[in-house]
Amino acid sequence: MGSLRTRNTTKPPCLFAKMLAWPWHLQESPSKANFSLGGGFWKLLLECAGPDYRLHSLIDRFSARASKDIGKLRVNNPSDKRLTVVLTGYVYDDSPPRCYCWLVSNFERFDGEEPPTEHPAPNFFVSFMRDKRPAESEPYCLLPAGYRDAVKIADMRAIETLLKQKKPAQAIVEKSVQVIRATAESEAAKASIGKQCMSIILPSQPDRQAAVQYHTSVISKKIFGAAVIEARGGEYGSYIIADPEYEARDLQNNSKILAVPKVGKNQLCPCRSGKKYKRCHGA
Ligand SMILES: [Zn+2]
Repeated sequence: MGSLRTRNTTKPPCLFAKMLAWPWHLQESPSKANFSLGGGFWKLLLECAGPDYRLHSLIDRFSARASKDIGKLRVNNPSDKRLTVVLTGYVYDDSPPRCYCWLVSNFERFDGEEPPTEHPAPNFFVSFMRDKRPAESEPYCLLPAGYRDAVKIADMRAIETLLKQKKPAQAIVEKSVQVIRATAESEAAKASIGKQCMSIILPSQPDRQAAVQYHTSVISKKIFGAAVIEARGGEYGSYIIADPEYEARDLQNNSKILAVPKVGKNQLCPCRSGKKYKRCHGA
């Protein structure tokens, strides 16, 4: 697992996964991480599962818990407390299974016309989207997250076209990674979008395995997880959860290359060795 550095022994009040949060607040101050949220997300979900283990009640309890815990956090700027946790997966009450995406948020929702608010509400609320049935017009959900404004409409349309054409999931993943990279390079992103990302293909059949891929744009000995997460002030003290980094070593304790970008076999290797990719890091 990744490294978890804690600056203060005091436990954070609430443990969510930053990866699941949409960091709107970073738009205003990219250099300043704001409040909390690292590891322990799964533990928290499990705590909210009982006593009935029903999905919808779990999400309601999770939302109530977020309201309670986030309310305690003190931050310099109230808008720093804006948080959305995205939960997604298949629900098997319907046949074929239907994909749902829930937002547990204190400032934005799927339903209704309300735009995201500048200040967080005192309590979290739950909204959701689900894939449409074939008889309905668009049997999919497509949603830019985080730096929504930096994403070009044309790029969203291109992904939408692949969805409409029912292209394989892998093709949609590859296009999405391309869009993320292009968005990262655009001026609108203010150099705050990273190019390393992860995709998960979740099959609707529960007996089939999910396909998780890490998409890198550089040759690297490390794979990076969530960004730096920091909380300050309040009765909980301050703590930092730094980027979880995954680093592999061989038996001689030399660090090994872990992340290699995907390039054509006959292209030059991105490590600048001058060799073809297939004769170097792509071997
Ligand atoms: Zn190489």
